[in-house]
Amino acid sequence: MIDTFLKEAIAYAAGKPAENIMDILSVKKYVNEFVIAKKLHLTINQTRNILYKLSDSGLVSSTRKKDKKKGWYTYFWKIEALKSLEFLSQILLKQIEQINHQINSRESKQFYICERCNIELAEEKALLHNFICNECGEVFKIKDNSKLLKDFKRNLEKTKNKLSLVNKEIEKEKEKTEKQRFKENKKLDKEKAEETRKKRAANKRIKDSHLFSEDVKLNKLKNKKAVSKKPKKNKFSKHKRNRPSVIGLKNKFAKIKKNKSKKRR
Ligand SMILES: [Zn+2]
Repeated sequence: MIDTFLKEAIAYAAGKPAENIMDILSVKKYVNEFVIAKKLHLTINQTRNILYKLSDSGLVSSTRKKDKKKGWYTYFWKIEALKSLEFLSQILLKQIEQINHQINSRESKQFYICERCNIELAEEKALLHNFICNECGEVFKIKDNSKLLKDFKRNLEKTKNKLSLVNKEIEKEKEKTEKQRFKENKKLDKEKAEETRKKRAANKRIKDSHLFSEDVKLNKLKNKKAVSKKPKKNKFSKHKRNRPSVIGLKNKFAKIKKNKSKKRR
């Protein structure tokens, strides 16, 4: 159902031959304009003309990609379903207005015709000509509007029904968009929560490692102090330096003996 409406919207916006583009374009993903042109058997410029017309009415949207080698942009297009339906809805409203106007006119005014020339005139104009045909001199007859009115009224019903169907599709599309938005928001919220969680974890890690390094520093400092408290292993420690050598002692005793023997003499 929606595809028929989208096709109709396209035909109104860019002409009946353009509606075939609907079979190539999608409402979900973007299609390369060169692919569209090839499938439509049109030149790229003809294709772009159609797409620009549709784009002017908001029925399609595009995204572009730069060709790194050639330096130009290639466009990708997709159908905007909601906007296309709204566009069609506006057209149908206008049509309904026009039909109503015609019905009112036929019901409130008298029309005259020359059956020979198949000319129709409103009452004021027929009066100007004294109800006689300018072309053939035949006397005008009052036009029987009943068949025409019947056709108008049938057309009015048809258009009204179509409008209500289009409006239902619009509601569906809006619901879809709403759901999509809700889903995306939920996803975003989830991502944000995850990011916050990661940030907190990272901060905690940094803090912990900081504390850890502080600990390490403290421990190092403690160890240093502990090390400096230990007596230094030195070859020339005080104790060792003051200890007389064995030879020194022997010499000392020898001196004392010598002095004693001197005193005895
Ligand atoms: Zn005539």
